[in-house]
Amino acid sequence: MAPPPADTNGSDAAAVYPAAGRRRWHVLLFPLPYQGHINPMFRLAGVLHGRGFAITVFHTDFNAPDPARHPDYRFVPVPVPDGMSGPAPVAIEDVVAHIDAMGRACEAAFRDRLAAVLEEYSRDAVACLVADTHLLPVFEVATRLALPTLALRTGSAASYACFAAYPMLCEKGYLPVQVQDLQLDMPVNELPPFRVRDLIHIGKDSHDLMCEMAARLVTAVTKLSSGLILNTFDALERRELEGVRRDLAVPVFDIGPLHKFSPVGGSSLLCQDRSRLEWLDAWAPESVLYVSFGSLASMSARDLVETAWGIAGSGVPFLWVVRPGLVHGCASEGSHQQQLPEGFEAATRERGRVVAWAPQEEVLRHRAVGGFWTHSGWNSTTESICEGVPMLCRPYFGDQTGNTRYVEHVWRVGFEVGGDLERGSVEAAIRRLMTDKDGAEMRARAGELKKAAAVCTSGKGGSSCMAIDKLVTHIMSL
Ligand code: UDP
Repeated sequence: MAPPPADTNGSDAAAVYPAAGRRRWHVLLFPLPYQGHINPMFRLAGVLHGRGFAITVFHTDFNAPDPARHPDYRFVPVPVPDGMSGPAPVAIEDVVAHIDAMGRACEAAFRDRLAAVLEEYSRDAVACLVADTHLLPVFEVATRLALPTLALRTGSAASYACFAAYPMLCEKGYLPVQVQDLQLDMPVNELPPFRVRDLIHIGKDSHDLMCEMAARLVTAVTKLSSGLILNTFDALERRELEGVRRDLAVPVFDIGPLHKFSPVGGSSLLCQDRSRLEWLDAWAPESVLYVSFGSLASMSARDLVETAWGIAGSGVPFLWVVRPGLVHGCASEGSHQQQLPEGFEAATRERGRVVAWAPQEEVLRHRAVGGFWTHSGWNSTTESICEGVPMLCRPYFGDQTGNTRYVEHVWRVGFEVGGDLERGSVEAAIRRLMTDKDGAEMRARAGELKKAAAVCTSGKGGSSCMAIDKLVTHIMSL
């Protein structure tokens, strides 16, 4: 394990590395093993390591990180029973069930590993455990061992508020959502700007699963943690943050966007194909559409075909991530060539490239990229906003519907491609974003948000920098 920074006596070093040289300088982390949760946790690790804390990461075999890419951290595997380490589930109901089962399955092994680590480091040398809000059993184990915990919610403040409001939403009849229902467009007055369709929800038959997930998450935060860390920032969600703070007895640290504080952390589970960054160099500024639906969302073979021919018909240059398993029923190892319609590559060779997985932050930062067709995962949304890139949103599940609502209605930096995908409407949506006045206005507003994000993350009194300072002080006081 790496020692804390060597020079701990000078006042400058103490300011930069407040944890260095103190007795309690270990922070333990336990991410939920999904890409969209692993990335922010590793970025948080980078931030805390930069402040002098030694980092220990607990992880499951499922989606395990590669320790070789983080030589400064220590990794502690927490085995889960056979059958839980296979391929990631696809349907949202299965993801929700998998998250619950994973937490419970690793409880006993985590208790043993944590006890051993506390003994090895000496209990006093460990400041706290930061765990994903979805891992209630992990919070319970730490609490039983008298170790303070902090909760990391990797989504927006608004999505946390939605989980916290679940009992009310059910009681008032907003949930479960009746898919055939006229109510879909009804505003949720208690949770503006959400309409019923924007709430985090799941099929009616699995509604109880989602209620339980929400209850576990809120219990972890309100009953067992000594603070909530959110990967969001003041300029984006001031009102939502005020609401979360009002309802919580523990402090809230809005320290996002974390990817702006911590370099691309080597936490990608798939190998990022960097070969197309150079290809982007040849294109005019803001001319290329980047298309990616994140690590979990999947579409029907029909939707893929309509998406492909819509992209082709738009005439817009593009870089498209077709990851293994993007299409339902296509083997998870299926390459993009196998998933794309015949003739697509030949038709678009002049102005398009398809990759299995991209270095997304760098792609979005590239001056040639002028639009992002996204599934509206929270990381993708904030990564796009921070580069001033407007979005076409095609939400699939979870918080993606709510994020889309904010993109279109609150920040007005993109719009939803809803309903059945048809190549004609896809073409029109792409042109609207990339070449119309409307799209240019969204791009201008995204540019303003990019500046606002830069202010929040600037060292001179930026709100997120101050929140990190407060978080470090809080951790030292636990
Ligand atoms: N990502 C990536 N390469 C890709 C697509 C996505 O590195 O080709 C990263 C992206 O930068 C983001 C994460 O994967 O940090 C996806 O998280 P998000 O919350 O957007 O969606 P999820 O995968 O959880 O649905």
